[in-house]
Amino acid sequence: MDKASCIYLRKSRESGETDDTLGKHRATLHDLAKEKGITVSKIYEEIVSGESIAKRPQMIELLSNVEDGMWHSVLCMDIDRLGRGGLRNQGQIVDTFKDSGTLIVTPRKIYDLRDENDADVVDMMAFISRKEYQMITRRMLSGRVRSIKSGHYITPTPPYGYNRSGTRGLAINETEAEVVRLIYEMYVSSSGCYKIARHLSDMGIPSRSHGPWIHSTINGVLSNPVYCGKVRWFSETKAKDTIIADGNHKSIISPELWQRAQNVRKNKEHSPTRTKISNPLAGLVVCGVCGRTMVQNQKGADATRLVCLGYGCKNISSRLDHVESVIISELEITFGDLVIKPDLPMENKSRSKDKLKLLMNRKAELQKQKNHIFDSYEAGVYSVETYLKRSAQKDAEIDANKAEVERTEKELVAEAGGKDIKEKIRKVLEYYLNFDASERNRLLKTIIDNVTYFKDKKGLRISVTVRFKPV
Ligand SMILES: [Zn+2]
Repeated sequence: MDKASCIYLRKSRESGETDDTLGKHRATLHDLAKEKGITVSKIYEEIVSGESIAKRPQMIELLSNVEDGMWHSVLCMDIDRLGRGGLRNQGQIVDTFKDSGTLIVTPRKIYDLRDENDADVVDMMAFISRKEYQMITRRMLSGRVRSIKSGHYITPTPPYGYNRSGTRGLAINETEAEVVRLIYEMYVSSSGCYKIARHLSDMGIPSRSHGPWIHSTINGVLSNPVYCGKVRWFSETKAKDTIIADGNHKSIISPELWQRAQNVRKNKEHSPTRTKISNPLAGLVVCGVCGRTMVQNQKGADATRLVCLGYGCKNISSRLDHVESVIISELEITFGDLVIKPDLPMENKSRSKDKLKLLMNRKAELQKQKNHIFDSYEAGVYSVETYLKRSAQKDAEIDANKAEVERTEKELVAEAGGKDIKEKIRKVLEYYLNFDASERNRLLKTIIDNVTYFKDKKGLRISVTVRFKPV
């Protein structure tokens, strides 16, 4: 090995790990290095436990060294340790290891991200840990949510038109409130945001930033329910989690004016092009009749259906959510046994090993017998006919043995690594319903190779091909 390797250590905050755990991890990784014949010449140890890369100085240094091709491999306890937080972070880490061809060595497995299978697994694990992280953050946020629901305004800066009152309240700033009323009145009398902004700037009315008014600020004022006495909170992750509650503060405009302004906004809004995936099965389901990829119907009321757009194709459409649940239950059936008998893979493993040994003995035996047949022919014991017949019989036996050997070898590989990926898939299924459409899509794509869909008057037939590559 030309290049040396390093160790990366980081506490997992949410599992409540201590410095003690870190010491144990260090020892485990040193043992692992010894076992694999790896020379460790540096340890990166994160003191703080920031979630984003920016808050993890050791990770920043490690990544830059990996980028420079300094390390043959990086040892860490688990793939999860490397990434947490945003997906962009994760992508950055994965790309850096991939481009430099640096291996990730964990006690469970060595990952080479240039290998597509390994990259897939890392992708999925990262996705799951991000999900777990989000759930933890969500729990921490619930305190804030409670505060908003009881009418507090918790954003540090008060909105234009208000001053702070106490730590969680708002008091009307009369000068600014006049401007807010003007904005709403102008807007419902058919002035657009650009025009209002120019008008305020021309009048010399100071904005919060003391610069000229811009249309997006106007739009912000017009869309903020704080002016009709509400408090609002946006979830960072999901739009549907937006909370609007009655505030404890006084309103600047009447509910009627607020509603009129919202109606105008609604009419002006040209429906934005949806780039976000709203079909969790996008790109996954193939028409069993014509082979085209099935899509979500774009037409209004039927938008909940999965259809084949092939011209003249006779395949019948289904409700998207129905197809989705059939696929999920297929996966549950495929991986369900793991839940019931978690120890089975280990037993199988030793059984497969024994079996392979027997098969290999048999292989040698068969080859010996074949040689013997030839010897007998050469010695004149067998006629040509007898030789050909016996030889063909032996060849068939050898072929059968060979096929069995290959099958058993595959079993062994699947058992060695498959347990890990099965475990992950099981976890995915457990959390599945918490994901939104595009996340579900991403997840399914890491597990499923393709789904074939066929429906006629007899009913729906779906076959799911799971991407089950040995880890
Ligand atoms: Zn079709």
